[in-house]
Amino acid sequence: MNMLEENGKTSRPVRGSAQKALSLSVLIPLLALIVAVLFPLIFNLSGYVLSLILLAMSYTIVVVGLNILLGYTGQLSLGQGAFFGIGAYAFAILSARHGLPFWIGLLAGIMVPVLFGFVIGLTTSKLSGHYLAMVTISFQMIVSLVLNNWKTLTNGPDGITGIPRPSLFGLIDFKNDLNFYYLSLIFVVIVLWFAYRLKYSRLGRAMAAVRENEMAAGVTGVRVYRAKVMAFVLASGMAGLGGVLYAAGSNYISPDPFGFAQSVVFLTMSLVGGSGSAYGGLLGAVLLTFLPEWLRFLKEIYIAVYGFMVILAVLFLPQGIWGLTRILEKYFRKSQEVEALELKEFLPKLEFASDMMSVKGLSKHFGGLKAVDRVDFTVTSGEIKALIGPNGSGKTTILNLLSGLYMPTGGEILFDSQRIGGRRPEDIAALGIARTFQNIRLFGDLSVIENIMVGQTCRTQESLLSVAIPNRRARQERNLIRSKAMATLKFVGLQDKADWSAKNLPYGQQRLVEIARALATEPKLLLLDEPAAGLNASETDKLVDLLKKLNEMGLSMLLVEHDMSLVKSLATTVTVLNFGQKISEGNTEHTLNDPLVVEAYLGKEEEAYA
Ligand code: ADP
Ligand code: MG
Repeated sequence: MNMLEENGKTSRPVRGSAQKALSLSVLIPLLALIVAVLFPLIFNLSGYVLSLILLAMSYTIVVVGLNILLGYTGQLSLGQGAFFGIGAYAFAILSARHGLPFWIGLLAGIMVPVLFGFVIGLTTSKLSGHYLAMVTISFQMIVSLVLNNWKTLTNGPDGITGIPRPSLFGLIDFKNDLNFYYLSLIFVVIVLWFAYRLKYSRLGRAMAAVRENEMAAGVTGVRVYRAKVMAFVLASGMAGLGGVLYAAGSNYISPDPFGFAQSVVFLTMSLVGGSGSAYGGLLGAVLLTFLPEWLRFLKEIYIAVYGFMVILAVLFLPQGIWGLTRILEKYFRKSQEVEALELKEFLPKLEFASDMMSVKGLSKHFGGLKAVDRVDFTVTSGEIKALIGPNGSGKTTILNLLSGLYMPTGGEILFDSQRIGGRRPEDIAALGIARTFQNIRLFGDLSVIENIMVGQTCRTQESLLSVAIPNRRARQERNLIRSKAMATLKFVGLQDKADWSAKNLPYGQQRLVEIARALATEPKLLLLDEPAAGLNASETDKLVDLLKKLNEMGLSMLLVEHDMSLVKSLATTVTVLNFGQKISEGNTEHTLNDPLVVEAYLGKEEEAYA
């Protein structure tokens, strides 16, 4: 909060090219909306077509929700049909069987699936890929069984009839399909608007980071479980809302349309339309609702043709049909101009007394292997300490322990006089420790600038509410995030690569982006795992300059490195590991000449000469 106010001066709304990009992303949906409003007025739609449109609208809401789960967060669910059904039934039971008002039924139709989604999200947060798919399929099966067999609640296979539609103070009667169409349209627009804004929000970036690389997301300060559970909650709530509109739209429900087959249909709609975007959900839902109707003339072979078209779309359009618009986006979406901000303006000013981090008796065992064995060392405030040792000596394992990726087997890690051993990566990042990886772990599909903006997640607080309701504070925060990210990018000299996909950068530049992303978390201590590995001589020189400059700004570092000339030119002290144990420590020059160290690196002297 303070940070925002302090920097209020530098975060005025941005003018210029940002405005142009905005106008297009507003103009196109606005045109679509006008068409949607006028369409049924101009064309005299038959009752049948109108009911198909209503169906497509309820599906759209479900599929947009699934896109948040699958496309945004990378969580595969084959149980959206169940959430759709729970929403429809919760609503129908309350409104049709118990006579409660429509709006209360609607609320229950959203909240009951949300509750289930919350529990499923929580319990499956460690699962992904086909394991997660299996759990959601099982959930789907259970829900189908319950809908069919719990007769006192659901009326079994006979279903529930006489489901009411709302009326607005007796003024507008939604029993009229056209009126109900406009009510549904309002819901569709709200859901699309929310999902679209979510993607470019703090939470949306966190979700994308989780999708692209869960481990890197955590150490970059993203609350990984929160993002996953939130995705489940939003997806199930939207599925529920879709279910309510479906039930109210068709007046009658039975368990059939909420089975596994429907879950597969939702997944197909998401993939065909494009799971990465809200509009892809709309496209997929509408297209696959109407396609079977358009293919009617093919009679018996229609299902084969339908299947073939779906397979073609999934095979050749990995980002769905909406993904094609990404090609156009390049021409329209100019990079946002941001006001200049210097890195040193926001890197934390340090007030550490002496020891910033002290490690005592730290151990990590993998079965019988003592990868790290009772290691002690300290990093004093403002220093660059090197951690060296032959391959397999436990250096990366130590960084993993320090950044919360591993739970220590024993020992203690104190940072800023707090115990951090075994705490979550995102909490440690928030305390002020950032890191890079030996094998670069960027968020490959995100742009360079977005990669770095993820680093600001733990320093900002834009809530879900401000995704739904735009406000000045949130907008200022967004601009500040962008200008800070740009400052770190400028610092590593890659400002002209801001809009590149991270995965398309050459290796050396990817290393720099990873450092910039770590800096964007505003760390006090930076852990670097072999930052010069794979760099050529001139890139290494540039890296040394960069790290020196950072150190002059007050940033402390723990540097794991094999290149001894780099260690000599940067580190004041060195800790040497061999087979998980500390074998030497002290002033750099002196320690590198320690016979024990020379021996560890070269093997025994006789062997070295042999
Ligand atoms: P360094 O980074 O110094 O080259 P590491 O810390 O990566 O070494 O590895 C130290 C030892 O721990 C190696 O023998 C490695 O095989 C083992 N190790 C590292 N991570 C794991 C793991 N997750 N499971 C089992 N063994 C591991
Ligand atoms: Mg290593």
